[in-house]
Parts: sequence; C-alpha cells; structure tokens
Amino acid sequence: MSTAHDPVPYEEGSSQGYSERAADRFELVRHARRYLVASGPCPRCNAHLEIPIVTEAVRALGNGGPASGGTEVPMYCECEGEHPGRPDGEEGCGAYWLLVVPGDLT
Ligand SMILES: [Zn+2]
Ligand SMILES: [Zn+2]
Repeated sequence: MSTAHDPVPYEEGSSQGYSERAADRFELVRHARRYLVASGPCPRCNAHLEIPIVTEAVRALGNGGPASGGTEVPMYCECEGEHPGRPDGEEGCGAYWLLVVPGDLT
C-alpha cells in the first residue's frame, strides 16, 4: 500500500467528502485500554497519519450513548510534507474532518 503524498497548496477547510473518505480509509486500532489510534491517509494530501484518540474524551463528547451508533471526533492533517503557502508554525495541509468512532470502541 504505497500512496504518494500530494503537495497541494495549504488551505484550511473541510468538506463532506473528506469525512466520507476518512470513514472509508481510516482504521481504528486499540493501543491501550484508554487509547485508540486512527490510522490512514489524509483525505486531502494522502499523507499517512496516525492520530491518537482518548476514548474517555470521546465518551465525554458522546452524542446519545451506546445506541447512537458512534461519536464524531474532529481531526486534522498533521503531515510533515511540503505544502506551498503554509504559514509558519502550522502543520499539515489544512484539511480537517470528522471521523465516527463506533460506540462499541469507546
Ligand atoms: Zn500533506
Ligand atoms: Zn493532509
């Protein structure tokens, strides 16, 4: 699974498409009882990302308990690749999105 990083110009933003692509391509891996890691390609620039998620925080965000089907967790690209126009001190390509963490993982 080798995917090339796409050096698109830095641009902050989100779209429904990012969230849909992330839902298709991210895997949630349990690293410890209280942590998951969301692992997959950035839906905008394709960089491989590994984003830690604290399950207690997800429960605290929780929208409606175990029957709700999941909780949307915001995440953003934090790649170290090149993106023209990125302001000093910023990271990633500017994309952010929501990933649904299923209730049975929290
Ligand atoms: Zn990138
Ligand atoms: Zn990105």
